[in-house]
Amino acid sequence: MGINNCILCNSNNNTEIYIQHRDFEIVYCKTCNLYYQQTVKHVDLEEMYNNIYQAKPPDTKNKRYWKNRIKAIYEDICPHHKQPGTLLDVGCSYGLLMEYFISRGWRAAGIDICENAILHAREKGLNCHIATAESFRPDGKFDVIVMDNTLEHFKNPLKSLFSLKDLLAQDGIIYIRVPNVESVILFSGFRNFLGNMKPFEHLFYFSKSALALLLHAANLNASIKLDGNVSLGNILNCYLRSKLVLKDYWQDLNYGISANKKKLYFLLKHIYGEIISVLGSMPVGVRNKELVAIAKKQI
Ligand SMILES: [Zn+2]
Repeated sequence: MGINNCILCNSNNNTEIYIQHRDFEIVYCKTCNLYYQQTVKHVDLEEMYNNIYQAKPPDTKNKRYWKNRIKAIYEDICPHHKQPGTLLDVGCSYGLLMEYFISRGWRAAGIDICENAILHAREKGLNCHIATAESFRPDGKFDVIVMDNTLEHFKNPLKSLFSLKDLLAQDGIIYIRVPNVESVILFSGFRNFLGNMKPFEHLFYFSKSALALLLHAANLNASIKLDGNVSLGNILNCYLRSKLVLKDYWQDLNYGISANKKKLYFLLKHIYGEIISVLGSMPVGVRNKELVAIAKKQI
C-alpha cells in the first residue's frame, strides 16, 4: 500500500517505511521526525484492550513501580497547580493515578475505552467513564488533564488534543508522558526493530521534536523534558522481543486466538514480566526513556 500523508506535517514525499509486517507498517516522516503506524489489517481496539487488561488487575505486581511513577507525575504537576483542583485522567485504566490525587484532596474523573478496566475502577467508587477524548461530555472544566502513556495510542492525537483543550480550564495544564522513540532506537541499534514498539497499541512514536510540533499544531504552549531511567530490563526487553518472542507472533498471540492459547500466553507473559520487572529496577544511567510535556492554552 502507499504511504498516507504525514498527519502532522502533511508531507508525503519525505516518508519511508521503517518497519514492515504483514498486518501493519510503521512509517517514518523525515520532515517532522514522527513515526506512525499504517494499519493493513483491521483490529477492534476495544476488544484488544479488553484482552490485554483483564477484569481484575494483578494484585501486587509492580505496585512499587506504579506508586513511584504516579508520585513523580504528582510532583511534576504540583508546581503548576499548588492547590488541589479538578483532574481528568485520560486512559485512566484501573484508576491508580486518580486514587493518588484523590487521597491528596483532588477531585478526579477518568476515561478509558477498556470496559474491563473501567468496571473495576468503578467498583472502587471512582468517577470513571467508557469514553474517548472526543466523546466525553463532562459537566465542568478541568484544572489538569493527564495522559500518562496514552497519546501514542490515539488514532488521531491532534484531533484528540483539540477535544481535550475544550475540557481544560482557561489556566489549566495538559500533562503528557509518552515513550521517547529516540531512546528506543538508540538501544535497538538496527532497523526493522520491534523491541519496545507495540503494534496496534501504539499508533504513534514521538521524538521530542515531533511532540513539540504536535503540541504547537494544537495551539498549545509546551515545555518538554526527557525523563525516566532506562533500565537493564528495558534493554533486555527490547532485545528479546525483537529477536525472539514477538516479532512474527505478535498478532497471533495477542488477538484472535483460542482461550487455551490465551491462558498460556498470559502465564508466559506473567513470568516474563516478573523477570523483566526485577531487571527494570536496575537503571543504566541514561535518563531519556520518556518525554514529559506540560502544555497550556495559548493566550
Ligand atoms: Zn511529518
